[in-house]
Amino acid sequence: MRVYNFSAGPAIMPEEVLKRVQSKLLNYEGKGMSAMEISHRSKAYEDINDEAESLLRELMPVPKNYSIIFVQGGATTQFEAVPLNLNKNKKGDYAITGHWAERAYIEAQKFTDAKAIASSKEATYSYIPKITKAMIRPDADYLHICQNNTIFGTRFNYTPDIGNVPIVNDLSSCILSEEFDVSKYGVLYACGQKNIGPVGVTVVIIRNDLLDKASPVCPSMSHWATHVKTKSIYNTPPTFAIYMAMEVFRHLKETGGVKAIQTQNRDKAKRLYDCIDNSSFYKNIVVKEDRSIMNVPFYTPSKELDAKFIKEAEPHGLVTLKGHETAGGMRASIYNAMPVAGIDALVAFMKKFEMENR
Ligand SMILES: *Cc1c(COP(=O)(O)O)cnc(C)c1O
Repeated sequence: MRVYNFSAGPAIMPEEVLKRVQSKLLNYEGKGMSAMEISHRSKAYEDINDEAESLLRELMPVPKNYSIIFVQGGATTQFEAVPLNLNKNKKGDYAITGHWAERAYIEAQKFTDAKAIASSKEATYSYIPKITKAMIRPDADYLHICQNNTIFGTRFNYTPDIGNVPIVNDLSSCILSEEFDVSKYGVLYACGQKNIGPVGVTVVIIRNDLLDKASPVCPSMSHWATHVKTKSIYNTPPTFAIYMAMEVFRHLKETGGVKAIQTQNRDKAKRLYDCIDNSSFYKNIVVKEDRSIMNVPFYTPSKELDAKFIKEAEPHGLVTLKGHETAGGMRASIYNAMPVAGIDALVAFMKKFEMENR
């Protein structure tokens, strides 16, 4: 039996995609071998890379003056790549809105003069600070933000208006979940294992005029321009993860693209937040207008009941609901691939659990 997997990542994949990949696993497109056995220097792989890139470009959409690369090392490698690639003035400004945003800031301190220009840490990251132009150093190479804070369940509901300083945005846990204006940003990156597909591939989208600002000591594997020039085959790329991502992009396009999934994602999040808000038993501590529609943390009245909830949910096929160790409680990650039926099953269980334990 397939369960409803609420994991933050590696996360649920669309069942249709898994079945399609399974059907081609031994013999990909008549090649007599699996997609994971194909040489990255072959025409067959070039077709996979090109289709993954063009589908992503079409779905987001990504304007022509931006490059798309597929790299390894997860979103965490981009924490160092950002200050090494945008290094003209050796100044990077950071908004500290959660665990990953802070990790990016701490890593950057090794390579640049990193400055925290705003933080909601003192309020356990329960809101998104308002960022204004006056807070940004005019000669900063960039402002780094994290669009969706995976652990604390907040998201930016606005684009900071900061003039000419480019915004770098970590989209790891929300890429392709809602309509998004790429042209307002300088650089976007996202690891694969949240809202795209399997772990192993990280997508980086760079405005082309930002490709010549790297430090001379930037290692080749972190150097965006190197991967752009070599069409993401500077070394052996994570070919199977990129192939899986391509299948997910195809599926998203066939089912109506970002517009359709946005409607579904907002509806799914509303069902879950309504259940929390309409009860005096469950609570979510995030300021309402900053709530994430991808990651929903919630708490029962006690730690003991939280543990009981997680344990009793499992036999109902509702798994991986434990919150991150820094946040506690529960967290339901409800990415694109989580069906509405999964939300309904969770809400039904929450009501039953409340009745039995209030
Ligand atoms: C998961 C996550 C990361 C870390 O990704 P890795 O691929 O494990 O390096 C970074 N940022 C955000 C917002 C995330 O959700």
